[in-house]
Amino acid sequence: MEKKILKRILTLLDKHYGKELECSLDYEEPWQLLVATIMSAQCTDARVNIVTKDLFSVYKEPHALGTAKLKDVETIIRSVGFYHNKAANIIACSAAIDKKFRGRVPDTLEELTSLPGVGRKTANVILGNIYKTPSIVVDTHVKRISFRLGFTDNTDPVKVEEDLMRLLPADHWIRYNHQIITHGRLICKSQRPDCENCFLKDCCIKKGIS
Ligand code: SF4
Repeated sequence: MEKKILKRILTLLDKHYGKELECSLDYEEPWQLLVATIMSAQCTDARVNIVTKDLFSVYKEPHALGTAKLKDVETIIRSVGFYHNKAANIIACSAAIDKKFRGRVPDTLEELTSLPGVGRKTANVILGNIYKTPSIVVDTHVKRISFRLGFTDNTDPVKVEEDLMRLLPADHWIRYNHQIITHGRLICKSQRPDCENCFLKDCCIKKGIS
């Protein structure tokens, strides 16, 4: 990838989506974002936001959710899908934060990924959004669009993350996540990306698109 093309793409993303995009999951404190992110797997953020409103009105802090009954939590979060596993994970994760970290969400990748239900992707959401630690979240949009743009040849999320960390300046990592997720929702959709009306069409190699 030529440096001037990369720079042009990053400049256009900044111009069209800004530099200060917020996470679209609703939360008031770090633990809530962690729980919401665990629940967002295979589910829309809009649906998660509806469910977490109810969930956090009943369980107001890690100890409360960490000692909740599985059936009670399942009933509240049923509509997010995979609710049995997600309920078990958010209970176990909240219990670990309560006991192991005294109620505080940890701020390192190693500690975050030691929590039940927390993989690299969820950990990077917390590092970027809460602690402002440069991190790249490889979700389905970031994986797909980074490939189409020619930023990576890989499909394995960890390898994509490594490729992006090598290529992108660290001060773009957090906002690249938000910009690309927005771009994926609006223009570069999984099926039928709107290349004709895309502001990146002149610098995108459209890899994998016939
Ligand atoms: S030109 Fe097409 S493939 Fe490239 S980013 Fe835009 S919509 Fe996606």
